[in-house]
Amino acid sequence: MPVTVAIVGSGPAGFYTADALLKDGNVEVDIIDRLPTPFGLIRAGVAPDHQTTKKIQQKFEQTALDDNVCYFGNVEVGRDVTLDELRGMYDAVVLAVGAPFDRKMGIPGEDKKGVHGSAAFVGWYNAHPDFRHLDPDLNVKAAAIVGVGNVAIDIARVLIKTAAEMADSDLPDYAAATIHASPLTDVYIIGRRGPIEAKFTNVELRELGKLETAVPQVDPTQLPDGVEGDWDDRDRRLKERNLATLKEFAARRRDELPKAVHFLFYASPVEVLGGDRVEGLRVERTRVEGNRAVGTGETFDIPCGLVIPAVGYRSVPVPGAPFDAQACIVPNQDGRVAPGLYVAGWVKRGPTGVIASNRPDGVAAAAHIRQDIAAGNKPGRVALQAILGQRQVRITSIADWQKIRAMEEGTALPPAPRRKLSSIRDMLAVLDGS
Ligand SMILES: Cc1cc2nc3c(=O)[nH]c(=O)nc-3n(C[C@H](O)[C@H](O)[C@H](O)COP(=O)(O)OP(=O)(O)OC[C@H]3O[C@@H](n4cnc5c(N)ncnc54)[C@H](O)[C@@H]3O)c2cc1C
Repeated sequence: MPVTVAIVGSGPAGFYTADALLKDGNVEVDIIDRLPTPFGLIRAGVAPDHQTTKKIQQKFEQTALDDNVCYFGNVEVGRDVTLDELRGMYDAVVLAVGAPFDRKMGIPGEDKKGVHGSAAFVGWYNAHPDFRHLDPDLNVKAAAIVGVGNVAIDIARVLIKTAAEMADSDLPDYAAATIHASPLTDVYIIGRRGPIEAKFTNVELRELGKLETAVPQVDPTQLPDGVEGDWDDRDRRLKERNLATLKEFAARRRDELPKAVHFLFYASPVEVLGGDRVEGLRVERTRVEGNRAVGTGETFDIPCGLVIPAVGYRSVPVPGAPFDAQACIVPNQDGRVAPGLYVAGWVKRGPTGVIASNRPDGVAAAAHIRQDIAAGNKPGRVALQAILGQRQVRITSIADWQKIRAMEEGTALPPAPRRKLSSIRDMLAVLDGS
């Protein structure tokens, strides 16, 4: 009898786990996702103008079409079926549920109107059903994005690019209408530490130097001559490239173009200013000691009507699984949680790394399952289908996803690759032919 495995989450971690399990054969893999559409942050996180990165969806779709794989979309573990029930039905359950919520900055004023965490804001401009109603007020001249990783750069770029520059993206209509009607001219990317500690990769950074209507700005006095510190060779090379790019940016003039993306390093947010609504962000100047930013007591204000903290993501507990509330992960030994229960991806090791960084997690989870479970003895798919049938859960299959995909691609205005549906109701309506 095949080993039956339920993978909860159809992001990269879920699919890499499925791929690794299939390599050894004699396995039946069911991939469960709370959304009708698969692929996690590849669909709902990766920037809409980075279509090449999203192409890995095609490979994962092939995995989902394997005879030994079944996709159960629109099924939320914890709502439609419990983890305990899944563990009763499957030889192994792999949690690959990601880290979908924002970490807070933890400063006064963070709850004002006009503050949107990056998970929500990125979800909004990527048509994630949870965030389509965010309705951010972009009738603002300036925005502050807190954090110096690729997510902050993505948000700055999507906010500042013109409609023509976004024509070959899959930015949803409602977000395009709001963003491209915005009078926004200045975006600030704010980091507590310096340019050397910043986490962005060089390709993403350089993109900000090629925008049609916005010029990148950096204070040259914030840029060191070279990369000091104890970095391994790979990190040092990346940091040297970033420093060279930032030096090019520092030589650009503000009046070259009507808009600007400003990098403000050594600045730690201390308060969101304003009444009900955001009117600015107060930051404290810092200096870096060791690897830490230390406040100097000197503050200054950045007038802005929008604040987007991009300071990290957090997982939430899955009822029935242990949870480390400090680290916001499911505690595990290289992916093993308890007999028959495993984790992979961001819920295993925290919200770091790129899509491919989740592959080793999938390989490890599959290897543990092989080692721990010699032969299958739980029914798996038939039991899940029965329980979801009893509960009248509307499951979407991979064929259903293909119909949604065909509709999204067929209604797109070229060169846009697809016109994304953002509501679960609309997705199900496509399947019902209405
Ligand atoms: C804004 C942003 C941009 C990024 N851009 C890039 C990029 O350009 N290139 C790159 O390589 N990497 C990028 N990354 C990183 C990459 O997206 C992540 O490394 C990767 O998606 C993490 O994979 P995961 O499978 O752990 O989580 P996720 O991709 O989040 O997948 C988790 C899945 O679990 C599902 N789920 C959650 N809870 C439940 C439940 N209870 N029941 C059923 N299903 C559930 C979710 O719906 C989701 O589909 C980006 C990340 C972010 C946040």
